[in-house]
Amino acid sequence: MTFANRHIGPDTDEQTHMLKAIGYASLDALMDAAIPEVIRWHGSLNLPAAASEEETIAELRAIASRNRVTTSMIGLGYYGTHTPAVIKRNVLENPAWYTAYTPYQPEISQGRLEALLNFQTMVTDLTGLTTANASMLDEGTAVAEAMTLAKRASKSKSQVYAVDADTLPQTLAVLRTRAEPLGIRLALVDLDAGASLPDEFFGLHLQYPGASGAVRDHAPLIEAAHRQGALVTVAADLLALTLLRAPGEIGADIAAGTTQRFGVPLAFGGPHAGYLAVRAGLERSLPGRLVGVSKDVDGAPAYRLALQTREQHIRREKATSNICTAQVLLAVMAGMYAVYHGPKGLREIAKRTHNHALTVAGSLAAGGVEVAHAAFFDTVTAVVPGRAAGIVAAAAAAGVDLRLVDADRVSVATDETTTDAHVAAVLDAFGVPASEAAECGAQPLARSSEYLTHPVFSSHHSETSMLRYLRKLSDKDYALDRGMIPLGSCTMKLNATTEMEPVTWPEFANIHPYAPASNTSGYEELVSTLEGWLAEITGYDAVSVQPNAGSQGELAGLLAIRGYHRSRGDEHRDVCLIPSSAHGTNAASAVMAGMRVVVVACDDAGNVDLSDLHAKIETHAANLAAIMVTYPSTHGVYETSIADLCAAVHEAGGQVYVDGANLNALVGFARPGKFGADVSHLNLHKTFCIPHGGGGPGVGPVAVRAHLAEFLPGDPLEPGDHHAVSAAAHGSAGILPISWAYLRMMGPDGLAAATGTAVLAANYVASRLREHYPVLYTGSGGLVAHECILDLRPITKATGVSVDDVAKRLIDYGFHAPTMSFPVAGTLMVEPTESEDLAELDRFVAAMIAIKGEIDQVAAGTWPKDDNPLRNAPHTASAVTADEWEHAYPRSVAGFPVGVDRTAKYWPPVRRIDGAYGDRNLVCSCPSPEAFED
Ligand SMILES: *Cc1c(COP(=O)(O)O)cnc(C)c1O
Repeated sequence: MTFANRHIGPDTDEQTHMLKAIGYASLDALMDAAIPEVIRWHGSLNLPAAASEEETIAELRAIASRNRVTTSMIGLGYYGTHTPAVIKRNVLENPAWYTAYTPYQPEISQGRLEALLNFQTMVTDLTGLTTANASMLDEGTAVAEAMTLAKRASKSKSQVYAVDADTLPQTLAVLRTRAEPLGIRLALVDLDAGASLPDEFFGLHLQYPGASGAVRDHAPLIEAAHRQGALVTVAADLLALTLLRAPGEIGADIAAGTTQRFGVPLAFGGPHAGYLAVRAGLERSLPGRLVGVSKDVDGAPAYRLALQTREQHIRREKATSNICTAQVLLAVMAGMYAVYHGPKGLREIAKRTHNHALTVAGSLAAGGVEVAHAAFFDTVTAVVPGRAAGIVAAAAAAGVDLRLVDADRVSVATDETTTDAHVAAVLDAFGVPASEAAECGAQPLARSSEYLTHPVFSSHHSETSMLRYLRKLSDKDYALDRGMIPLGSCTMKLNATTEMEPVTWPEFANIHPYAPASNTSGYEELVSTLEGWLAEITGYDAVSVQPNAGSQGELAGLLAIRGYHRSRGDEHRDVCLIPSSAHGTNAASAVMAGMRVVVVACDDAGNVDLSDLHAKIETHAANLAAIMVTYPSTHGVYETSIADLCAAVHEAGGQVYVDGANLNALVGFARPGKFGADVSHLNLHKTFCIPHGGGGPGVGPVAVRAHLAEFLPGDPLEPGDHHAVSAAAHGSAGILPISWAYLRMMGPDGLAAATGTAVLAANYVASRLREHYPVLYTGSGGLVAHECILDLRPITKATGVSVDDVAKRLIDYGFHAPTMSFPVAGTLMVEPTESEDLAELDRFVAAMIAIKGEIDQVAAGTWPKDDNPLRNAPHTASAVTADEWEHAYPRSVAGFPVGVDRTAKYWPPVRRIDGAYGDRNLVCSCPSPEAFED
């Protein structure tokens, strides 16, 4: 059997059965009917023929072996760390965690929500602030979000953001990218040269400790900034904060940074969880997802995403940020690292790290080498006029990479993995003998407050207890390892084990993002091959994998359009047309790219309303920058007008951005770069098998035609003319082997078969459910693309049964709900993907039909509108076995509706959650154990 036959769920017989059900003789015939000829591509992808799983692993081993694993003491925000093996195997390598979806259905996500609450509690405790979100994409983007949050919250009208000159260089690069389109000016403040603040500024940003390693007392400067009405953002190292006064204690309003060194591998730059925390009063402006405590209908404490109304889908161009997919899996790991080590353990790791740095500094000083700063945590900058390159080379020869700051300075960063032998090798490279440790110059800034006092951080320090805690949490959740997750627009397909295996190999996991090029040829090869394959698949000329989520790909693509217009003297082109059905990130990204959003209507068939489009183009022709359309549309339909749309926009001088999140309906059959688009982002965590991780990681490559290639993102450490949208040149490089392996194992034929099967599965589900639930939109031949929208609005109107009721009732049947109320309120959008076999598709169809039968009983009055299995769903084991049962339907219907395997039933741990209660009483860190009594 080939890998493609394992990846694609339905076998030949099943496909024949499904084709028959929808009335087509073959997959080819179906695709010919479904895909409009104007976009159809009849070629064959120029990709290597499929390799077996074994061959693919062997090839990846060979590529990995071209990376050289050394001891990295480069620092700059990325540090060696020991991933506790129990966390590596039971979280990072465990499909119960990595195949989960974003916890929008909280009743089936209590495990990961608790893990995220641990993460938030860890961040708020260590930063001394009150509320932290559930992860950001990396430190650079987290600081950029801190900047815009400060801008929104500050009363100052100034456009100036004062920035510590000792900020990490990659953060500065991302800040420049984000500031410019918004008209924000960065004013660098040199803290060593007397720190003169600008006359007016809305925010001040400080790095703590600085990129040079210096630990400075920021309190006086923070006070000065507050006196001028500015907000203060601090990028703080969480490990250092176990020893140093917290940002909240020195007056900071916002803290941002990374949690990488809490057990998350370097992975050449990511994925890692960034963090963002705020003081009281700013929590309602916090971007990103925020886990909070609420209660279920029985009053039991229950977790769910708080303040969801802030999501882009509702706020669109007024959204606080475009961040959607974040870094949940990595946040879970970092939080669990804190759970495993506890406050004492973290402090010990920090002290050991600090002591090694003190030894380096003391020995250098005793050996006559000038040390730049007396107060530091883990990074010592040595002043070695003219000798820096020689010292770095000598250390490299001994297997240790140091940071070459410039010709005269070298930085040495210690971390959890540093040993005496590493320190000896470093001193050797400097030509000084080991000597006494330096005095700690940071003593006056020592932390005295407690942190991580919640019992969860002191209960699971034995491996047995940790193992069981992880198991207990993942058992509460529904992920792809239990059953299908038919979420429209999310493409929850198979994340094959062979694709996942290379991620934790040391040759991929233990490479610093700024390692010397001589150590990273394996990664360079992996990246360039993958970018080439993605260019072939999409028909574009150039691809960058730097964006670490779809949202960031959108921003990068729009910035490329902006750069293009400006290069032609068309600075005034700033209007971005976006259809009303667009994903919410589109509008948010356009605003971040300095564009004005103009909404284009959709017609009754769900297509872009062409007459409105032409009217809007005419009105805005002179200033038209771009249109952003999703293809196939978010309505799950192949629109036939796409080519005309592209032509009309081009004619008016605009560029066409095709949101490629739905590429699973196109691969091998149509290429956006050839049917009229100029730029797209793809979601490797949708179409190309990177698991969703419970809400991230993701990779959102940006793909462009040749005329936009020079505007693609560049290396954040060598910015030149290029913008950087992530802190690392190749973004979340560590998970690229997943998509590489997928493409290598599928080959051109396998990929086309996957697309065809995905379209077949969606049409099969649509045709089987059509008589029970109206399918809202279809294209030519009455066909849908890779997903279909079931319209519940007439049912809701007639019976009072809502989409929520159906979604929650699906849990009782053992399913994750489809996408709810996107892109149309009151509907469910089903995307089965190619990976679900016929039995699972039929199980889903049967559940939906049975649920329709239940709705009919409500309509017929058999069950009251306010007491029926739909309204009361989901049912917990505890509810079903309660001694009292006063409902209008029997317990067996509640707990074991038709088709449910009684021996393998998934029981949700809580009943339906009251989100509004939690929003009114916002609690976003771990609740006390008493809250759970009885
Ligand atoms: C998922 C999605 C996005 C956003 O991608 P993220 O990786 O979550 O940032 C954008 N557009 C569409 C249509 C999507 O489905």
